[in-house]
Amino acid sequence: MNKEFTFSAVLLAAACLGCFVLLAWSADAAEPRGELLRQDGIAVPIIDCHVHLWDISRPEGLGWIKKDDKVLYRSFFPKDHEPIAVANLVGGIVVVQAGQSVPDNQWNLDITAHDKTLYRGVIGNLSKVIGTAEFAPLFAKLCDDTRYVGYRLSGRYQETLTDAFYRDLELTAEKGRVVEFLPGEYSLEAIGEIARRVPNLRIILDHFGNVKLDGSPLDPDWVKGMRAVAQSKNVFCKVSALYGRAKEQPAPQDIGFYTPAMDLVFDSFGEDRLVYGSDWPVTEATGDYASVLKLTRAYLDRKGRDVAEKVFHKNAAAFYRIADLEPKK
Ligand SMILES: [Zn+2]
Repeated sequence: MNKEFTFSAVLLAAACLGCFVLLAWSADAAEPRGELLRQDGIAVPIIDCHVHLWDISRPEGLGWIKKDDKVLYRSFFPKDHEPIAVANLVGGIVVVQAGQSVPDNQWNLDITAHDKTLYRGVIGNLSKVIGTAEFAPLFAKLCDDTRYVGYRLSGRYQETLTDAFYRDLELTAEKGRVVEFLPGEYSLEAIGEIARRVPNLRIILDHFGNVKLDGSPLDPDWVKGMRAVAQSKNVFCKVSALYGRAKEQPAPQDIGFYTPAMDLVFDSFGEDRLVYGSDWPVTEATGDYASVLKLTRAYLDRKGRDVAEKVFHKNAAAFYRIADLEPKK
């Protein structure tokens, strides 16, 4: 009886301790965001520069998501991502518009307006209007919101880049806003030319300059193009969408697969012109948010804390001119 009692008491004590540990852990996890990634016992906060939100029922829809895509053919709203951000202690987010719909520029601002601390920046998409009379008034209106930090040029609607196109880029630079490219329709060479012609415009290449990896050595032409565009100091690069780089899906979970591309961007852009982005929810096709962050860390840990701080938040704050995160004391 005594023995049984002792055993039950031990069990109860263990359960209580478990609860206590769990409570303590959740209290810690609920602390101000952006406090994870502890290295040397001190937190390195994170600004994720590439998160998408979308409403699948928006009028213009999202053509690139196929109806039979079981993971992505649905809406992704802030309520879907916020628990993930909190759990991974991401303290700042730059939302990047998915698709090229003009009204979706404002939609992305509106849907994130309830938490301006978390959603520090919005990158819209002005592919359809740049170089036209529509650009200046729309851009001015969007810039009334300080969180409108710039726009992406993904689709290309002019074969030759006109004076009107450059006039709009000059205006963008004057307003202190940035332009993002996912090289493709705009080649690395074209982006390099833009960077030289508008040297005060801050430009960023999404997703490692859109490289595709299959495990074989990097394409020498791509390497050359990246090194050339990186010569312009106003061009940055996103260490983003790791999973999306892999030709084969689901993407490999081994950092070795991505290391050549990582090494190349570090070597060509340097540690001051790289920012982190997850590309959530597109990541979900391979793995959850924590897994892509873990993979990025696996590489950055080798570079040391100073570099991790730059890539995970400091460079993003400087590039987008948004408030930086404070490391936890
Ligand atoms: Zn994306």
